[in-house]
Amino acid sequence: MKRLRHLIDISDLTTAEIDGLIATAEDIMTHRAKYAHACEGKKIATLFFEPSTRTRLSFEAAMLELGGSTLGFASASASSTTKGESVMDTIRTVGAYADIIAMRHPLEGAALAASQRSIVPVVNAGDGGHCHPTQTLADLLTIKNRHGRLDHLVVGICGDLKYGRTVHSLINALSRYPGNRFVMISPPELTIPNYVRYEILEPRSAEWTECRTIEDCIADLDVLYMTRIQRERFSDINEYERLKDSYVLNAEKMKAAKADMSVLHPLPRVKEINVDVDDDPRACYFRQVEYGKFMRMALILKLLADAESGEFPDPVRRPLTDLGTYRCGNPKCVTAVETDLKQMFSLRDATHDIYRCEYCETKVKKPRY
Ligand code: ASP
Repeated sequence: MKRLRHLIDISDLTTAEIDGLIATAEDIMTHRAKYAHACEGKKIATLFFEPSTRTRLSFEAAMLELGGSTLGFASASASSTTKGESVMDTIRTVGAYADIIAMRHPLEGAALAASQRSIVPVVNAGDGGHCHPTQTLADLLTIKNRHGRLDHLVVGICGDLKYGRTVHSLINALSRYPGNRFVMISPPELTIPNYVRYEILEPRSAEWTECRTIEDCIADLDVLYMTRIQRERFSDINEYERLKDSYVLNAEKMKAAKADMSVLHPLPRVKEINVDVDDDPRACYFRQVEYGKFMRMALILKLLADAESGEFPDPVRRPLTDLGTYRCGNPKCVTAVETDLKQMFSLRDATHDIYRCEYCETKVKKPRY
């Protein structure tokens, strides 16, 4: 069977490959004509089971600028999901029409599940509150372009660090470069999930601190990555209402920041960046949108070339442990809905019998039979 390359998690790319994608994106930015026919005859399917403006359109714009074409749907209600079709069957079907699939889904682990069934490369365009690797590619190009490097930076990440999937992927990528230090700015209820803490930051000995206000740390930062509070992920709307205006960056607060600090935001913003910051030369969030398209162009080229050659490193997957009939208990995990999926668990802590679900990375304690 043909070997396929997917991008499910930013860990699927080596650091050298990320640097290579940045180099290709920079080349595309300066030599647009050279790439105008690179994907002639190729199609991308954008399957968005959850709302999107930038990500879906930028995948489509990316393929069009490479000379290819696009098909797909922009909401679950426009697909056969409403008739009860599984994601797995949808994916298998779309592989008959397209050469590559970009998929967004509200369930954590949905892209990994899709990749198991797909006959073409799958790109995770966001799986619930889990991860969003192509937003990270856009973020990295923005930072590289602004600061000339991806290492030895002080990076403040502010807002919803619990449900913000872009935050998880960004930390995963930036903690691989030497000398970066993170300042996590969030209310106590929205701090980073345990798996980011114990499986990304801790094993890499990444330096990080927590802070409750922007004012307390803005002067130290090279990058301030703002995020919105993720309303759609809260099970208690009152909790969202209480936390939604936790942070607002404005021109007044920017006065204390370094002259070359950059402000990023994956967008959409709600109220967390005041419009009076937009004209500040340090505001990079609209440029970040443009960079997203160039990085997605570079990624499409790479995944199609890798699918063609079949030559690429194996994705780093943890060895699986059979937990019998035990099922992941996370209601937001794809396995909670797509019940035919094979459960996959890997060992996290042998001393305490702790495992993790490979789809959503939720930790589970080995059941006693
Ligand atoms: N657009 C980003 C995402 O899809 C950020 C956000 O929605 O807040 O995760």
